[in-house]
Amino acid sequence: MLTWKFAPAGNHFCVESLPRMVKQGEVCLISVLGPASLKSIYVEFQGVRFPLAFSEQNGTYEGLIGIDMDTLPSTYEVKIITKDGDSDIHLGNLSLKVEEVDFGIQKLSLPSSMVDLDREALERVNREERLLNSLFRAFREERLWRGAFICPVEGELSGAFGLSRIINGQRRSRHKGVDLRAKEGTPVLACNSGIVVLVKPLFFSGKSVIVDHGWGFYSMYFHLSEVLVKEGNRVDKGAILGRVGSTGRSTGPHLHWGIRMNGARVDPLTLLKIKTHHNFRE
Ligand SMILES: [Zn+2]
Repeated sequence: MLTWKFAPAGNHFCVESLPRMVKQGEVCLISVLGPASLKSIYVEFQGVRFPLAFSEQNGTYEGLIGIDMDTLPSTYEVKIITKDGDSDIHLGNLSLKVEEVDFGIQKLSLPSSMVDLDREALERVNREERLLNSLFRAFREERLWRGAFICPVEGELSGAFGLSRIINGQRRSRHKGVDLRAKEGTPVLACNSGIVVLVKPLFFSGKSVIVDHGWGFYSMYFHLSEVLVKEGNRVDKGAILGRVGSTGRSTGPHLHWGIRMNGARVDPLTLLKIKTHHNFRE
C-alpha cells in the first residue's frame, strides 16, 4: 500500500516526499491534506480520473487509484485537480513510478471445446466481451462502497492475478482476477456495498455476477453454481450473491474474483490490504 500526503501552505498544496512506487496491478491509497473549501478533487493518472472524498474531521482528502496490469513500467505524472464551476484547476503533479511484476505462468489442460472455439462460440465470447467493456465504462458519481473491502469467500488461492495462461500447450490470455478454491455451494459474499448490474451466464465465466460500487469500481464473481441476486438489487457488504461452483471454463469448484477500477484491471488482494481512514467508514 502507498500513501501520499500533501501539506497545505496557505492555499497551496505542498508534496511531502514519500516513496512513490507502485507495482503493475496494484491499488494504492492517496491522501491529501488541504482546505475544506474544495468541492471536488480528483487525481488523474493516464487520462483517467479517480475522485477523492473529504473528511471533516482532519481535513484529509482520500481516494484509491488502480494501476492496470499492463501499465508499462515507467515514471508517470499524476495530476491533482479540483473544479471551480466547470473549469479545472490544476493543483500540482506527482511523479509515480510503476514497477514491472513477473506475474508467472500457469499451465492448464481443458476440453478443446472450451479452448479451440467454433465460430458460434467465438461470436458469443466477443459479444460478451463488448457487453462487459461497455458496462465498465459507466461511471457512477455516487460512492456506494464503505470502509475496507472484504474477501468474498474463505478459500485457498489456486490461481494468482496476472498469470499468463498456457492452455493445452498454447499461450492464451492473462488471468485478470484471483481464483479462490472453495467447496461447491460455499456462499459468495459482496466484497463491499453496491448495486448488482449484471447477472448472466457467460461462455468462459459461467454463472456470473457483477456489482457496481460507484466511483468506477466494479467487482466480478464468476463460475457460480447458483445466483441469489437480481440485476438492480442493492447489496450491502457481506450480502450473499450466490454460491461457489464450476460453471463455464473451469477445472473445479472455485470463485474467480475480479476488480475493475475505472477500467484498470487490478489485483483484488491488493485492495484487501488497503486500510481506509475514517472518511470511508461505514
Ligand atoms: Zn480465474
